[in-house]
Amino acid sequence: MNKEAFEGLKRAGQIIRDGGLVAFPTETVYGLGGDALNPMSSKKIYAAKGRPSDNPLIVHVANMDDLAGIVKEVPEAARKLADAFWPGPLTMIMNKNDKVPYETTGGLDTVAIRMPNNKIALELIRQSGGYIAAPSANTSGRPSPTVARYCVEDLSGKIEMIIDGGQVGIGLESTIVDLTSPVPMILRPGYITAQMLKDVLGEISIDKTIIDSKSTERPKAPGMKYKHYAPKGDLMIVQGAQEQVVSYINEQSALAASEGKRVGIIATDTTRELYKADVVKSVGNRQDERTIAHELFKVLREFDDENIDVMFSESFDDSGIGQAIMNRLLKAAGHNIKTV
Ligand code: AMP
Ligand code: MG
Repeated sequence: MNKEAFEGLKRAGQIIRDGGLVAFPTETVYGLGGDALNPMSSKKIYAAKGRPSDNPLIVHVANMDDLAGIVKEVPEAARKLADAFWPGPLTMIMNKNDKVPYETTGGLDTVAIRMPNNKIALELIRQSGGYIAAPSANTSGRPSPTVARYCVEDLSGKIEMIIDGGQVGIGLESTIVDLTSPVPMILRPGYITAQMLKDVLGEISIDKTIIDSKSTERPKAPGMKYKHYAPKGDLMIVQGAQEQVVSYINEQSALAASEGKRVGIIATDTTRELYKADVVKSVGNRQDERTIAHELFKVLREFDDENIDVMFSESFDDSGIGQAIMNRLLKAAGHNIKTV
């Protein structure tokens, strides 16, 4: 990192120490950061995002030693997972100590903690005093920002600084695993898959509200119950054999166009040429789902930029990273999925 960048991060760190807010890049999505140990900072984060205050924030740390400073005890499982995946896209939930205000945890006695794998983020955390509370840097309910311009769109004028670190590497938020339940439980799927966690811990469970969209139970991560990632237009996911999916989407696209609507289609590299609509975008390559994770939120935002009224998306395999992709896509679509 050059001297100028370092000086900029020192200034950003001072803003956070003084109780201000800074949007910054991480490897997952852009975060909206404030001092995690300052209740006023957390209140400001909720206000800037329009986020319900019972939806707790993730605390970001830069050193393993700092973890012990905010929890009752560091569980053995946390050490193992940190060894395997930190810095990286894994958030762990543990019992908080008194240093963490309830404003940060949405009133819970547990705290969610992550060490991001991004040089700017890590230096900013150090410069800020060690603990940054940071949800995604978007207006609550909209797709998470994976480039700085969407932080500007949502938060400009509401926060003190936005750091542009280019497009993020991963593009989906972290996997969240609760270490306070008897068997560690995945509360939000992400880039670190269930199998990867199982390989380290031996045993893993999954909050069933993630897999079963019709479940009437409350998700264990409070934020998962809210409307999320929604583009401005209506989105429908279409699943089935490729040929049927393409012809159904083209039919619906023509119908919507005849009603004067602007139509967008979320395709993949191999199918984009097969569609007819105002805007057709490939979200990536099915052979490598990381490419889809990387582009999904950006594509949803771009449809907003293009004033699209109706969108159709192909469906994705629900295993591995696909579980996280489908979780976000289903939420973005308000669970509007059609089988053909
Ligand atoms: P975001 O930072 O916008 O990616 O959202 C953070 C997610 O972490 C939300 O879904 C929260 O509900 C979840 N979360 C944060 N802290 C906790 C906690 N202590 N227990 C359960 N879920 C949490
Ligand atoms: Mg978010």
